[in-house]
Amino acid sequence: MITPRICQVAVLGGGVAGLATALNILDQTGKSGGNLRVTVFEADATPGGNLRTLHQDGWQLEWGANGFLDSEPATLRLVRRLGLAERLLPSSDATRHRFLLVNGRLEEIPTSPKAFLKSGMLPPGAKLRMAGELFLPARRNLGRAAEEPATDETIYEFGRRRLGREFAEVMLDPMVKGIFGGDARQLSLAAAFPRMVELEKNHGGLFRAMIALARRRKKGHKTDAGPSGTLTSFQGGMADLVAALERTIGQSGRAEIRCDSPVETLTREQDTWHVSGPGFSVGPFDAVVDATPAHTAARHLTDVAPGTAAELARIPFAPIAVVALGFDREAVGHNLNSFGLLVPSREKRDILGCLLTSSIFPGRAPDGKVLLRAMVGGATNPTVMDLDDEHLANLTLSELRPMLHLKGAPIMVRIIRHPRGIAQYLPGHLALLRQVGQDLERLPGLFLTGSSYRGIAVNACVKEAEALGRNVTRYIEGLEGCP
Ligand SMILES: Cc1cc2nc3c(=O)[nH]c(=O)nc-3n(C[C@H](O)[C@H](O)[C@H](O)COP(=O)(O)OP(=O)(O)OC[C@H]3O[C@@H](n4cnc5c(N)ncnc54)[C@H](O)[C@@H]3O)c2cc1C
Repeated sequence: MITPRICQVAVLGGGVAGLATALNILDQTGKSGGNLRVTVFEADATPGGNLRTLHQDGWQLEWGANGFLDSEPATLRLVRRLGLAERLLPSSDATRHRFLLVNGRLEEIPTSPKAFLKSGMLPPGAKLRMAGELFLPARRNLGRAAEEPATDETIYEFGRRRLGREFAEVMLDPMVKGIFGGDARQLSLAAAFPRMVELEKNHGGLFRAMIALARRRKKGHKTDAGPSGTLTSFQGGMADLVAALERTIGQSGRAEIRCDSPVETLTREQDTWHVSGPGFSVGPFDAVVDATPAHTAARHLTDVAPGTAAELARIPFAPIAVVALGFDREAVGHNLNSFGLLVPSREKRDILGCLLTSSIFPGRAPDGKVLLRAMVGGATNPTVMDLDDEHLANLTLSELRPMLHLKGAPIMVRIIRHPRGIAQYLPGHLALLRQVGQDLERLPGLFLTGSSYRGIAVNACVKEAEALGRNVTRYIEGLEGCP
């Protein structure tokens, strides 16, 4: 008879991906009465990674992510599981108004085809070119980027091919900067926006897809039309999510979050794993989930899987700085009834865009004050990160001043630097993941997750954590003596 034993799982990295995966593993094994322990190793003094909320003299600033779209069922399930539904904070109505800098002027992004036709966003020829999308045939070899990396197309190439150069430069380019801090000319469409590939593949084109999906909705069918939804946070900011994850994981009585524990190496001994860092070496673990960024996971795997480590190290990250600026309301001439603005590369500015944070969520600035959050740097402008804080703030101010009619100096400045901020999914990313997936088959018990791989958003991390929780549980349940 096999004696039941305590089975151990290590999760490396206590960002949202690691914490949500840890909780899912605990929940899954809890259901089968699991005799399982989970240890989360976090390098920093507190968990959360990019989800951190700073409080400073009545200002509430997000370190990284500002919120998430409320359209991902996995995130909503997690929110309910954590008892956080009451603390959800949807963005205000002002967020419907979003602006692009076009020829030096802020133009509101139209939200309906009619408004788009009337807008001065694109010249008439460019609008005509866009309309031609309806008649373009679909590209061949769509959906083969993982198997045939040569068929991987950049976001810019896709936009230009289907909707024209003007559209790609004025609308797609800033959107990619706003989401990825990335360069539309560099990022893989299939990896960054897989839904676009699917729409072209399944419907022959984007307009045809829109028409088909609208018809289906009219007939009462549910459609997955894409990442729509309302930007949402919590009353206490994104830190609420981390605090609730930390608390709930702790309450399981079967898990520990070890902070100040930067993992340096992973070793494998007789089907088990050992985790080491400065002053600690812990194991054996039956399974390890590495939820640190790919460049860190690469270091962990240098000894045990040098080929995989080399693949992971190829995933680049864009540096990004958040420049938070606080003003008295009277010092801002703009009506502030807006989400914010994005800046296309061809406008030749240093900022990527700016969120009007205090218009998006209530309670982010003291009464009578305004909180702006500009993003600077990104893949298109990494060297601007070399500027010291004073110069970075001045540069940001000089660009925002005419756009938002700012008068006088800010009363609060806070700069948050992310030297390796957001993973950049270059063409070949899906092929790289395929290769890494094959490598992992030879390393049973090792799993990789996090925003470096299959989606950079909080929603993507949470969605993957659900599936991974099930996979890890299945793996553990298959081991001798494990629940
Ligand atoms: C400026 C900025 C704005 C963003 N805005 C949004 C947004 O509005 N909406 C959205 O959905 N997404 C946004 N994102 C993306 C989102 O924040 C991230 O994708 C998400 O938080 C990543 O979670 P993660 O757990 O994969 O990684 P991380 O948050 O990077 O967590 C990794 C964790 O691993 C730890 N770690 C690192 N090395 C080690 C080690 N050796 N040993 C142990 N632990 C280690 C880190 O300390 C960290 O806690 C933004 C990102 C940035 C940078």
